[in-house]
Amino acid sequence: MAQVSLRGISKIYDGGVVAVDNVNLGVENNEFLVLLGPSGCGKSTTLRMIAGLEFPTKGQIYIGDRLVNNVPAKDRNSAMVFQNYALYPHMVVYDNMAFALRLRSYSKEDIDKRVKDAAQILGISHLLKRKPRELSGGERQRVAVGRAIVRKPMVFLFDEPLSNLDAKMRVQMRTEIHKLHLKIQTTMIYVTHDQTEAMTLGDRIAIMKDGKVLQLDTPLGVYDRPVNKFVAGFIGSPPMNFMEGTVVPKNNSLYFDEGNFKVKILEDMYGKLERYKNKKVIFGMRPENIFDKLFASYATPENTVNVLCDVVETMGSENYLYLSTGKHIFVAVVEASNKPSVGSMVEIVLDMKKIHFFDPSTEETIV
Ligand code: ADP
Repeated sequence: MAQVSLRGISKIYDGGVVAVDNVNLGVENNEFLVLLGPSGCGKSTTLRMIAGLEFPTKGQIYIGDRLVNNVPAKDRNSAMVFQNYALYPHMVVYDNMAFALRLRSYSKEDIDKRVKDAAQILGISHLLKRKPRELSGGERQRVAVGRAIVRKPMVFLFDEPLSNLDAKMRVQMRTEIHKLHLKIQTTMIYVTHDQTEAMTLGDRIAIMKDGKVLQLDTPLGVYDRPVNKFVAGFIGSPPMNFMEGTVVPKNNSLYFDEGNFKVKILEDMYGKLERYKNKKVIFGMRPENIFDKLFASYATPENTVNVLCDVVETMGSENYLYLSTGKHIFVAVVEASNKPSVGSMVEIVLDMKKIHFFDPSTEETIV
């Protein structure tokens, strides 16, 4: 059990690539922290520096209250689970799990107990005599996790551990990792580019881009209060819709006007939008906050717009409507029974409490 703290961490690889740029991050004791971001944003490099597999160009890394910058990986009391499992192909599962303990000269009895306890937690007791090639992808991943558990590390590090599994197995292993965290109550840091994994697993999520942490918050925090357009668009599926338009004052009220799409803004947003009057803004609305007028009980002329139904995607439990203003196309997620015909006009209603505005030049959140 340990806190992990990154203070002003940067990593510049040979050749000048700035992979991580002045990252400050505090991971609480027993917390499940997810590093989330697109490929190449510096997640793995950050994780590998915590593990001791890379060394920072600048800054300090603490595990507990120990500065570990110069501590070799094997002495950091952390264990890493890799995307490709990294199992020894010629060893049976038992020996794969026992390997690191034997290296550290644990007694035979202690090794046996740790391997069997871990195997039980992970439901792989019946696989201990098999070689990795005799296991499915999900089973191999469990062994890789088991190999980390037996060491009872202070910190678990996961580098995209589910990305080699098929979609169904990924969901199953995701819930198992969640249960594992509840069961063994250890600090875990988990790298992924998959926002669903991040939302479902993380106590908090650090969203990274270009080597920087843009926002560190709870899953609901990043969903409800994204700090900028990038975070807003990265969290949520299908992603948030954006359209550019103008904030138009009229009769003591403010309206967002895209040209063919005009809605009244709620009064409690006026303060923050004051300096954008008659100026361009980016309007953001999540697909799940858009409703067909027939299905929305709070429709008024000021939160209702008329748009063209361009495409309907049937998902089974719901439909995705691709709606066109003539200038922008946006997506609405609606009930399965709500299936307008393609080419028809649809009256849609927005939940104006859930609308976001972003500055078009900085892309920072206005409100
Ligand atoms: P992520 O895990 O978010 O996909 P990485 O941390 O792997 O990102 O990489 C961040 C950046 O650093 C990328 O531009 C990548 O090409 C670069 N990079 C990663 N490893 C090395 C390396 N060993 N040498 C040089 N550049 C690297």
